[in-house]
Amino acid sequence: MARSMKKQQVALLSGAAGDIGRAIALALHGEGYAVAVSDLEHRHDDLESIVEDIRHRGGTAMSLIADVTAADQVQEAVETVSNEFDGFDVMINNAGVCRPRPFLELTESDLEFTFRVNVYGVLYGIQAAARKFIEHGTSGRIISAASISGFRGNADLAHYSATKFAVRGLTQAASRSLGGHGITVNAYAPGIVAGEMWTKIDKQLSEDKHMPVGESLKKAGRDIALGRLATPADVSRVVTFLADPRSSYVTGQVIVVDGGLIYN
Ligand code: NAD
Repeated sequence: MARSMKKQQVALLSGAAGDIGRAIALALHGEGYAVAVSDLEHRHDDLESIVEDIRHRGGTAMSLIADVTAADQVQEAVETVSNEFDGFDVMINNAGVCRPRPFLELTESDLEFTFRVNVYGVLYGIQAAARKFIEHGTSGRIISAASISGFRGNADLAHYSATKFAVRGLTQAASRSLGGHGITVNAYAPGIVAGEMWTKIDKQLSEDKHMPVGESLKKAGRDIALGRLATPADVSRVVTFLADPRSSYVTGQVIVVDGGLIYN
């Protein structure tokens, strides 16, 4: 059935228990989507609280446990959502990890860990969603998390930057590959978002550089034109735009949401 004729659009979101994930889930609900939130097992309670919140507001939601580094788990999540909600329209590959490390101290396991989640996870998500969209003849939307670090290398986040540059490559390649099926593939590139990820980055950098806690974050945010850090809602509004029919002629793009910081 064509997108416009369906009663309720269905979205699946990975890394949903984190700050940006939760905001995206609630924003999608606000736009009328049935929302499936997924994350790792240890985030089960956080997922359930999002589901409860959406149901409490009268919406449709379910939770799933899926590790994005395992292609079979991602495919299974897509199958489950599609069966449970009788449709599948939007895939959001939001899960990501970022553990700062000075450039000369980077190890194979740092690279392995970060690439498995941020790159392999995004590729598996794009593939699993595209297979289902093609099977159903759906002009689906695929939206992945990049970062401003995917445009500008950061000395202490080289491995993370490399993964986010890779997300841009995957986004462009997939948009070319899947455009003939009417599937759009885009990404969002947040700047510095106030939340758990940056709290941990700041703590690690503060220890490494013997600086007071909060100093790295302050330094990183100093040049933001709009004079404040991003909120998860700043990011979720761009994600819902990329999921919306209003953006149906946008594909292969990575939209920067940074308040005026890198000027790509
Ligand atoms: P977060 O750390 O709050 O949430 C990330 C979520 O991903 C967590 O719930 C975590 O459990 C989940 N996750 C990690 N490994 C996983 C795996 N193998 N399988 C499934 N889920 C897994 O981070 P956030 O700030 O909400 O970031 C969301 C996305 O936005 C990430 O891709 C991140 O790289 C990107 N991003 C964040 C910022 C920022 O400032 N916070 C900036 C740029 C880009």
